[in-house]
Amino acid sequence: MLIFESIKPLKEYLLKVRSQGKSIGFVPTMGALHEGHGSLIKEAKGRHDIVICSIFVNPNQFNDKADFDRYPRDIQKDTFFLQQHSCNVLFAPSVEEMYPVADNRVFDFKGLDVRMEGAHRPGHFNGVALIVTKLFEIVAPDSAFFGQKDFQQLAIIKKVVEDHKIPVQIISCPTLRETDGLAMSSRNMLLSAEERKHASRISKTLFALKEQINKGETNTATLAEWAIRNINEDPLLHTEYLEITDSKTLQPIETVAPESKAVICTAVKLGKVRLIDNVLLGQ
Ligand code: AMP
Repeated sequence: MLIFESIKPLKEYLLKVRSQGKSIGFVPTMGALHEGHGSLIKEAKGRHDIVICSIFVNPNQFNDKADFDRYPRDIQKDTFFLQQHSCNVLFAPSVEEMYPVADNRVFDFKGLDVRMEGAHRPGHFNGVALIVTKLFEIVAPDSAFFGQKDFQQLAIIKKVVEDHKIPVQIISCPTLRETDGLAMSSRNMLLSAEERKHASRISKTLFALKEQINKGETNTATLAEWAIRNINEDPLLHTEYLEITDSKTLQPIETVAPESKAVICTAVKLGKVRLIDNVLLGQ
């Protein structure tokens, strides 16, 4: 696997790849890699000649400095992980390399960012859009692979690519879960052994909610209220939000049915760790 920390040699290498007529798949990450990331790499490998993974803990998308400082980092372990997954290229730039001068671009997500993560993490999606567009400019991939685990992020990236006419295909990949249902996440590593035992209540509640919808409950207020109560019954868990929204507009809906194009999204605090998860309906 080739490893680049600087933009210029990476671009030179990618030009060579292009001149050989090879296609490029791109998996942007913040590292602390797990099999959720591995599934994106696998999907990219199946579709492209060259797969490039980036690891960059982007300060601009953290609204909470302590969260940024605490974010798990282990570049050696990640390098080994990527080699094991037959990734071709790792791009691991420094903050100075990515932001030699401040970039103050402001994006308009046409309302996709007003609720859920956008409401609870001010500036987060602007930071995400900034880094993702910068990375797209550098890598110029044919396709980029993103997880449905970050559903709102995925919707926002698709919107940015569409609005800015960026020539990249966005491929969305399903959420990978641990055997007890917990969505894989780099932040899971920050949980204590005791906290980890409680974490699966989040996904279990989302699946139970989907089951209630399948059985005919249609009122989203009743459903959400039940789910929040169910999560919060565990004293270690605190629900920041749980919303049942249209999966295109990300606006709340009043009624829901098994075939609704909807998504149930939640963010839950477990000790100091903030976990997000979602389940899709209508599939
Ligand atoms: P992150 O390193 O957390 O920024 O994630 C990098 C990419 O991996 C994003 O597109 C995430 O949505 C995706 N991802 C994270 N966790 C999972 C998971 N459990 N299953 C599938 N994709 C994931």
